[in-house]
Amino acid sequence: MPYNKLNDFEAQIILHKGTEAPFSGLYCNNKEEGIYLCKQCNTPLFHSQSKFDSGTGWPSFDEAIDTNVKSIPDSDGRRVEIVCTQCGGHLGHVFKGEGFTSKMTRHCVNSASLNFIKEA
Ligand SMILES: [Zn+2]
Repeated sequence: MPYNKLNDFEAQIILHKGTEAPFSGLYCNNKEEGIYLCKQCNTPLFHSQSKFDSGTGWPSFDEAIDTNVKSIPDSDGRRVEIVCTQCGGHLGHVFKGEGFTSKMTRHCVNSASLNFIKEA
């Protein structure tokens, strides 16, 4: 299946590992029930049940779907980058041990890397 076409802003985030400004993303405060897909290849990445309000300004999830999100060392040598396992598109970063939820994990994701599908 061909990848979805990205606009310039989405390409900057997804292909060139950019970061959208905090509190600017479409899904930052989205509380609807549904599923978040990779914007580039439609792979399901996060359920709304794992989304929590971190106050950081980016959509935050304490669990990814199956093995669809891959962690790799960030080029900054400190953080852990997360990408879509299927297409390698940049999603954001994952942080551990902060205590936001019992899972002790925060996937900090750019809205621009996601598409949201509302569940009926
Ligand atoms: Zn993808």
